[in-house]
Formats: sequence, structure tokens, C-alpha cells
Amino acid sequence: MTALGTHNLWRPYTQMKTAAPPLEAVATRGSRITLADGRELIDGIASWWTAVHGYNHPHIAAAMADQLARMPHVMFGGLTHAPAERLGQRLAALLPGELNHVFFTDSGSVAVEVALKMAVQLWLNRGETGRTRVLAFRGGYHGDTMGAMSACDPEEGMHRRFGAYLPTQLFADLPRGPEQEAALDALLARHRHELAAVIVETLVQGAGGMLTHPPEVLATVARLARRHGLPLIADEIFTGFARTGSLFACEQAGVVPDILCLSKALTGGTMSLAATVATTEIFSAFWSDDPSAALMHGPTFMANPLACAAANASLDLFETEPRLDQAAAIAARLRDGLAPLARLAGVREVRVLGAIGAVQFTVTPDLADLKRRFVARGVWVRPFGDIVYLTPALTIASGDLDRLIEAVAAVVTETA
Ligand code: PLP
Repeated sequence: MTALGTHNLWRPYTQMKTAAPPLEAVATRGSRITLADGRELIDGIASWWTAVHGYNHPHIAAAMADQLARMPHVMFGGLTHAPAERLGQRLAALLPGELNHVFFTDSGSVAVEVALKMAVQLWLNRGETGRTRVLAFRGGYHGDTMGAMSACDPEEGMHRRFGAYLPTQLFADLPRGPEQEAALDALLARHRHELAAVIVETLVQGAGGMLTHPPEVLATVARLARRHGLPLIADEIFTGFARTGSLFACEQAGVVPDILCLSKALTGGTMSLAATVATTEIFSAFWSDDPSAALMHGPTFMANPLACAAANASLDLFETEPRLDQAAAIAARLRDGLAPLARLAGVREVRVLGAIGAVQFTVTPDLADLKRRFVARGVWVRPFGDIVYLTPALTIASGDLDRLIEAVAAVVTETA
């Protein structure tokens, strides 16, 4: 290997000096990644939770090839195109309530930035100044850009060093019980006039450690936000598109947020695309004869036609293939396969929600060693912090899922 694995490419979340060189992938298919040396790995995490239909689904590939020949990109300022128009209408129809107004961007973090800007400008457009902060939750993760980082758990290692450069948000524990609910209620009452919104990950705090919470917790957050007159931003970047067992996680709580963020599985994991979707009530605050009331955002590649064509094809698959049933079947298998690990002395907890299975250790293991052992077993599993988790493609073959669960059980048993 020449250029790959040298320091020419600066890698994500990686200490370049000490990290093992990356493996070179040359092909993907279904739930398999083929390496340059010919080895094939079963992918347990669907490329950071994106490839819900597996890799190279022929329906998405055909739609993309067609769009590629026709118009891979055109700017969205002053122009529109059928793939974006169709996708916007379909998302509005699929999402609950009046979540009808779709702003496309190109990554999850930027979808969150747009949601934060929407919330802040919403109040300015209503003539109310001073609402410059959001309330976010401990354990949360919303992305790596400045605004998104400011809403991540401030104690969590990843972004702590940037604290002095970020807007200072307000943080609370998720209201898992009456005491936390009362504390959140009091905090919101005290700070409501400086708050623009409440932001929450729905049903599971992903990068914060696959920390699941029941639908009632989300319903409580929504109720309290409403009580204090604050818009609720639901970050469904991880949970959207069937990962938790329903098309969108907020459905399980009967919650209709005011703003909802999507990305990751939006294109079935093929292209970078994100959407920030607002209700008609939010949108109407920007509807004005005053040009300065317009939402001031516009990424160069927003609503990229190729990405929108991929997303439309991905939505077709949710209509024509049984993704929700597959998610339920994976959930049952993960529960059966991982639950016994909770008995190990070195395991703190096993959590399963939809097609997400996580095993939390009592102490942080040697992550590099764990990653090596997974690869040696022919699976692509990427533990972080003190957890090992599986978020496979919803289409994964049952034999492959067995092999993933067996590998996790074996490596955890050796470690815990
Ligand atoms: N929000 C949540 C809940 C996420 O899980 C992530 C990524 O893991 C993001 C936001 C950021 O998305 P991206 O990495 O596409 O910027």
C-alpha cells in the first residue's frame, strides 16, 4: 500500500501518530465489505448507521445511474428539480403532523446547524430578542460543527476542548423519572426567556453511548417544551428510517416535534444528504414581505439531484420491501443473542432497541485491541467508549447476523 495509510489523509477522530493504519476497502455488497487483500468482512454497523438496505441495492443504484446521466448536480438557488420536489413532498407525507417544510443540506451536523438557526431566527422574526441559547441533554451528540458541538454533552470527551469557543447552552438530564422531570420543568421555567428551543435525540442517544430511553421520556420532553412555549427540535439523524422499529422514532412517543433533522439513512447510505424539516407554524414565521426575515442559509450542494434521486429510491424500498418487519426480527435476535452477556461480571448493561444492540462494559476496554479481534473474526464492528454495538443493515442475511452476534458474544466474553 502506498498512498493509503500514509499521513496524506487526515482521518476522523484519529490520533494519526499512534493509530493502526486503516484497512483498504475495495468493494461492498449486501452486508459485506471486501478488503484489498481479498478478505470479506460482515458489516455490523452499516457504515455509521447509514446503509439500511445493505450496500449496492440495485434499485438505488439504477435510480442513481439514471440521474447521473441526466443531471448529477445543478445549483438550488433560483432553480428547482423533480428529484428534490418529489423527495420534499414524500418526506412531508411520511412525517407526522404538519412537518411539511423541508430544507436540504449535506450532512447531519449541518442539518442540526440549520435547526438551531431556524429556532434562533424564529424568535427574531417574531420580534423577540435575547433567545440565544438552546436546552440540550446530557449524554447527547448532535454533530461536529460549532453550533452542533455546543449542543453535545459538555462533559463528554470529544468536544470538551472546544468549550471556550462555543455558544454556552443549557443542559439537563433526560427526565427519566419524576425528580428529573421536576428539575427540567423548573430549569425551563427559570430560563425560558433566554431559550430558543429544546433539542433532543429521539429514543436513543447514539454517539453518547447508545443510551436508550423509553418513549415516555421523549413525550415528557415534548410536553415540557410545549408548556414553556419552546419549539422542540428532534434529532432523528441516527434514528430515522426504521432503525428503532418505526419509520421515525418520534412516532413511538406520539410526539410531533416542531423541527426534525434527518440524514444518515435518508439516501440508504449512498450519498451525503440531510434534511431539516419544520412545521407550518415554524415556517410561517419566515413567511414575510421583509427580505431579512428569510432563512439565511444555503449550502452550495444543497438538494443535490443525485442524492435526492438516491433518497427517493430509498423511500421506494420502504414501500416495497418489509423494512419494519426486518427491524423487528433483528431486534428479537439481538435481544436473544446479547441478553446472556449481561450476566458477565465485566458487563454493566445490555441494551436493545429496534435494530440497535449495545453491550456496555464496566470499564473502558482497549478499543484498538477489540477492533483487531473483530476483524480477525471476519466482522466489522467498531466499539467506542465503553460499548460494543451492532446496527446492521435491516436486510442482513440471518446467517450473517448470527455471525455478528457470535463474534460480539465471543469478544465480550474474552474481555469482560
Ligand atoms: N446527530 C446525531 C444524532 C448523530 O448520530 C450524528 C452522527 O453520528 C450527527 C447528528 C452528525 O451527523 P454527521 O456526522 O452526518 O454530520
